[in-house]
Amino acid sequence: MDRNQILVIGGGAAGLVAAIAAARNGSEVKIIERMNRVGKKILATGNGRCNLTNVYANVDRYHGKNPWFIKDALEQFSVEQTIDFFEELGVACKEERDGKVYPYSDQASSVLDVLRYELEELGVEEICDAEVVRIQPTKKGFNVHTKNNEIIKGDKVILTAGGRAAPNLGSNGSGYKLALDLGHRMVETFPALVQLRLDSPHLKGINGVKFQGKAALGVRDKVLREEMGEILFTAYGISGPPIFQLSRKASEQLSEGNSPWIEVDIFPDAGDKEVFDLIRRRLDYRPNKPLDFSFVGLLNKRLIPAVIKEADIADMHKPCREVMPKEIKSIVNILKRWRFKITGTQSWTEAQVTAGGIDVEDVNPVTMESKLVPGFYLAGEILDIDGDCGGYNLQWAWSSGYVAGYYASINY
Ligand SMILES: Cc1cc2nc3c(=O)[nH]c(=O)nc-3n(C[C@H](O)[C@H](O)[C@H](O)COP(=O)(O)OP(=O)(O)OC[C@H]3O[C@@H](n4cnc5c(N)ncnc54)[C@H](O)[C@@H]3O)c2cc1C
Repeated sequence: MDRNQILVIGGGAAGLVAAIAAARNGSEVKIIERMNRVGKKILATGNGRCNLTNVYANVDRYHGKNPWFIKDALEQFSVEQTIDFFEELGVACKEERDGKVYPYSDQASSVLDVLRYELEELGVEEICDAEVVRIQPTKKGFNVHTKNNEIIKGDKVILTAGGRAAPNLGSNGSGYKLALDLGHRMVETFPALVQLRLDSPHLKGINGVKFQGKAALGVRDKVLREEMGEILFTAYGISGPPIFQLSRKASEQLSEGNSPWIEVDIFPDAGDKEVFDLIRRRLDYRPNKPLDFSFVGLLNKRLIPAVIKEADIADMHKPCREVMPKEIKSIVNILKRWRFKITGTQSWTEAQVTAGGIDVEDVNPVTMESKLVPGFYLAGEILDIDGDCGGYNLQWAWSSGYVAGYYASINY
């Protein structure tokens, strides 16, 4: 009997695992990839360390029109199964802070290496430098057309072409058209897990300042979400893991025409009174020191003039003895609640993940098969699912990819 021929479009995280799952079930699998090699994005994940999953992955960590869509796939190929899968391929896994899981080697390349080794062992063919421009259903299966005018035939197609984030690593959004042409609907996309642009006269001065702090995202007088961690001011605005975590909600607010703000707390472990007393003591200790100099050793030097100006104190060099309690309060207010207007996000090039994508309403959550085109499956970031920062997006890619590969190979 002929083997089930499966074409996987896009050799990213979801596509590689889909190919392994399908080939392990006896299918003949080809991966068609537009870049000159598969898995380029995997190499860039987790700052080159690949935060491959998170032990706390559950529906609460995912977003989109219907985050519950992830539930079946995450149950069928769970975090534990993912870790076992990688351990069995040779990647020893370790859990770090907040449930983030990394390879023991701390090398994203080791994750890609073992996936590619397994693909080779299973006889999966990788066709690179081949951008798919059309998927044509036929009586017997599919004809997949590439930009180089090649036609590749298969019984089933799994579309794992990713979203629009980080197009330099392959995902240029071309996958959406392939699914739209087959009648699928799409939810508008916007960058998620991305740096935020701020409106502030101080950005040039505080560019490069890093601190462990708290960031709160809000709109009008309502706080929408808070996150702690390393925050970085940049020439355009603000970055760092807590900012990435807040960025999806910020993008959403901007696209709804609202004016979101971000408030940073530079002393998250101390209350207002503690910070007030600390500053008061420093001022009293050396009453003749200039005010700005009294902060040297407590605050990053680049922050000092910006904080004092923002607290509306005209003479930043006046002696400490002349500083009024009211002025100390204003400084405390800035250190604990420095508010900035968010004007936008950085572009797709800097974004790590795409929010929005192919509408999950058109996809069976148990099998990842399209409800519109039998034999056509979708998985990974191309779908309208995005996760928080911390290993959740790769987990979605592995789980949905595995499920798609499995069902594409058994439903034959
Ligand atoms: C810098 C960076 C760091 C990240 N770090 C993490 C992390 O540590 N942990 C985490 O969980 N997530 C992380 N992410 C997110 C995560 O990498 C993605 O969500 C995940 O890789 C998506 O997998 P995918 O297979 O769906 O899509 P992709 O990985 O984008 O793969 C899609 C593939 O399809 C190919 N392709 C696209 N269109 C076509 C076409 N028309 N024809 C043929 N091939 C096509 C692309 O070239 C690409 O190889 C990071 C993302 C970035 C950009």
